[in-house]
Amino acid sequence: MNLGNLVTRSALFWAERVALKDERVELTYAQLDDHTNRLAAALTGLGVVKGDRVAVLSWNRVEIAEAEVALLKGGFVRVPINARLSTDEVIHVCADSEVRVLITDEAHLAAAQHALAENSGLQTLLVMGDGGSFEDALAQADSSPVSVEIDPDDIVVHHYTSGSSGVLKAAMHSLRNRRAILRKITFRSRLYPDQPETFLHVGPITHVSGMALMPLLAQGHTNVILSRFDVDMYLSTLQAEKVTQTYLVPTMINRILAAPNRGDYDLSSLKLLRYGAAPISPARLREAVEFFGPILNQGYGAGEVCSSVTLLTEADHALAMNGRPELFSSCGRALFETEVKVVDDEGNALPVGEAGELVVKGEDVMQGYFNAPELTAPVLKNGRYHTGDIAYIDDTGYIFIIDRKKDMIVTGGFNVYPNEVEHALFERAEVFEACVVGVPDADLGEAVKAVVVARDGAEIDAEALITHCADKLGKFKKPHSVDVVAELPKNDAGKILRRQVRNRYWAGSDRK
Ligand code: AMP
Repeated sequence: MNLGNLVTRSALFWAERVALKDERVELTYAQLDDHTNRLAAALTGLGVVKGDRVAVLSWNRVEIAEAEVALLKGGFVRVPINARLSTDEVIHVCADSEVRVLITDEAHLAAAQHALAENSGLQTLLVMGDGGSFEDALAQADSSPVSVEIDPDDIVVHHYTSGSSGVLKAAMHSLRNRRAILRKITFRSRLYPDQPETFLHVGPITHVSGMALMPLLAQGHTNVILSRFDVDMYLSTLQAEKVTQTYLVPTMINRILAAPNRGDYDLSSLKLLRYGAAPISPARLREAVEFFGPILNQGYGAGEVCSSVTLLTEADHALAMNGRPELFSSCGRALFETEVKVVDDEGNALPVGEAGELVVKGEDVMQGYFNAPELTAPVLKNGRYHTGDIAYIDDTGYIFIIDRKKDMIVTGGFNVYPNEVEHALFERAEVFEACVVGVPDADLGEAVKAVVVARDGAEIDAEALITHCADKLGKFKKPHSVDVVAELPKNDAGKILRRQVRNRYWAGSDRK
């Protein structure tokens, strides 16, 4: 089976439905099928063969969705590159994955040219944009159907993990992995061919959350793509396109909730708001349900498991509003076909309610990191992916992520998880964003430091924040100090880069 065929099937069933749309172009399923045949043929013409790597480096636009389908049709391995990576990182990714062709946009042309100059394996750049080589290649190529036979174990994606953990490495996804995710997202989004949905993509399609694209294309739905997130542009597109489903990351939800004019738009078409990729504070989640209604569902996942492995359903959110508020801290229950367990340091399963590392088994667990057995071995044991997240599971199967194992702060012999302190900070209306880290301290080893961004027009009173946390969490977890900053560093999924914030305070220290 070749997943690219699903688009050919959609073109047969729903030729004139709009498949893809961005600020510049609109493509029907018939056009998408034709373009993707041409692109696959053009790549073959460039000497690319099944299993070769083709990278995509661009801001969101229709063509990168076309590329995803074309690469599947041709049996090529897609290497999506985070559009925010530095030139050196782009060069590294192209070399690491032994990329043959790089598809890019004008904005990334300089980085792409550097990668071409530095890397003998990289032979061709295809540049998207009016009159670019991407369009030329498409225009000249044959449009006959392409469908290369792919084995379920063949690798189809090199997904570079977002880098929040440090080293950039490629999680390899096989066709079997992608099929598992296709089933899960179809279920999570309740996609039916006879109920056409309009889905608004605003997060980077190159991120693992962009895996929603294929399930939507497989069922003939319409995908509206925004190149970047801006609250007004996002809300006005929801209204204008009568969007029925969308996906957001917590920082985007946070920005919508902070926008004074958020109530000015008619969002009545929206039936499902999926979110995930990073923790969300219970206080902000409650506000989100109050604003959007009980239409939210959350997934927890990682690049290593291709997408999400848990689901906090719309009904769970309603339950959290009505009697089970603790569910606002849960990322839901395991999705079908997934085994989620909590284990101790020896890998033994822990009883209900006890915290340990979350491990995941299922058809969506990656095949390992490309060319890096030393990085794969510690995280992939007996087919189980060790997430590095500390969590517990309650007696009804709800999973509660406490924090990343590596981010735990040991202060005066006590363990403090930054997430818990951040969630307490988010209860204060004057706090827009918060990041908690351990900083060097002569007495305590590490002291808890809160780094916060004030909501527009609000003042931060450090003592008031510290007292609030002490009241909520107990004295040893309260921040010792608060720094107010204009902005916090984030990755492409809007996740705050805690390690980068932490490193600012450890520069010059002889300990790590
Ligand atoms: P990445 O592979 O870069 O997307 O990062 C995966 C990590 O993001 C996970 O191991 C978690 O630490 C975090 N994460 C993803 N989804 C959630 C969620 N729903 N709640 C809390 N943390 C999450």
